[in-house]
Amino acid sequence: MVRAYDVIKTKRDGGTLTDEQIRWFMAGYTAGDVAPEQMSALTMAIFFNGLNKKELASWADAMLRSGVVLNLDDVKGIKVDKHSTGGVGDKISLPLAPAVAACGVPVPMVSGRGLGHTGGTLDKLQAIPGFRVDLTVEDYRRLVRDVGCCLIGQTREIAPADKKLYALRDVTATVDCIPLIASSIMSKKMAEGIDALVLDVKFGSGAFMKKKADAKLLAQTMRAIGEGLGKDVTAYLTSMEQPLGEMVGNALEVVESVEVLRGGGPKDIVDLTVALGAEMLWLGKKAKTLGEGAARMRTALADGSAFRKFQDITRAQGGDPKALENLSLLPQAPDRAVFVAPKAGFITAMDAEAIGLAAMDLGAGRARAEDTVDPAVGLKLLHKVGAKVAKGEPLVEIHHRAAKGLPSCQARLAGAYKLGATKPRQGPLVDQRLGRAGAGKLA
Ligand code: URA
Repeated sequence: MVRAYDVIKTKRDGGTLTDEQIRWFMAGYTAGDVAPEQMSALTMAIFFNGLNKKELASWADAMLRSGVVLNLDDVKGIKVDKHSTGGVGDKISLPLAPAVAACGVPVPMVSGRGLGHTGGTLDKLQAIPGFRVDLTVEDYRRLVRDVGCCLIGQTREIAPADKKLYALRDVTATVDCIPLIASSIMSKKMAEGIDALVLDVKFGSGAFMKKKADAKLLAQTMRAIGEGLGKDVTAYLTSMEQPLGEMVGNALEVVESVEVLRGGGPKDIVDLTVALGAEMLWLGKKAKTLGEGAARMRTALADGSAFRKFQDITRAQGGDPKALENLSLLPQAPDRAVFVAPKAGFITAMDAEAIGLAAMDLGAGRARAEDTVDPAVGLKLLHKVGAKVAKGEPLVEIHHRAAKGLPSCQARLAGAYKLGATKPRQGPLVDQRLGRAGAGKLA
């Protein structure tokens, strides 16, 4: 017979838990038979002593099976999703999902909302008038089958153990624990009914993981969980040292995504969309190499097929596709201000976390899960790292509503920008790929 006390003691003393112990503990916690103080003791023991590969697979699978695993067997093709560990200005899912679907790979995507300095795909999509992310599982399945893509929020049925456990970890100082983060993310992703997954694991000032080494460990741990569950998972380590693109804020990020879907947009957004999309096409067997996948992605962005797919998705999810043609139909903040360079020089650093918080001050993000966001407000970043600017030159156009949060936004921006006399050296946006061999080179 399994006893909660023995499971906790085993992990506390550095021992290894059996599959049966882990499943029993997780099921008991979800049902309310294992007390929260017992789960918090166990997660603290895991914080200090970790989980080995086998334990990790059992832990993630037990969380996954605490709810429903969506069945997409009637959708033809290899279904591939992307997950990003989150950042500032990270609107990649908006151009990526339709572009990949336009190239023939079905994309079932369950996304999250923004919290703290990081934005969320659902908030961005809901800046499009009428766009619904609370579809039923039936509608989700139908849209992935008929449209090739569906973007929804986490339903109550998906990994309920994770929801309960995350709330507990949040108040017991056990969030920043790589095995627990990795199993939390993967249990939700594996419940989507996907065959393969691309992970965009970010490092840098705006990322959850500030250090590249931690991001790498998280990526490796998530890949190990995916492998244990029989899924093909590739991880990319990408830089979040500065915000992605030029827009931070929900409707503004839709505008920028539409620019990319129409063949334009900032280079970093295009490059990351193409790199992650190439991998999704390779995993989905619609490209023989990453190079071929990248070429197909660039064509889909240039020839209008990715944009038309986004319009189809928007229409199918109740949104107004006219707002994608006429961007002035998207929510617009009534007021503008600027943040100017305090001196002349090169922009040597932009603290992405501080910039995310500056946008949150205006109402673009939420400090707590229950807060609401203002889709219209945000920041337009007029210059990025490496640019040479004059004293007094505008660096940021601030889209605000009646000066709400404006003083603290300005103060955070003042702390976020570093200016220096020499042009800084910048690392690559896509730092490394951790995945199966045989994909060839991107370019
Ligand atoms: N995101 C998740 O989904 N889970 C974690 O534990 C941390 C970040």
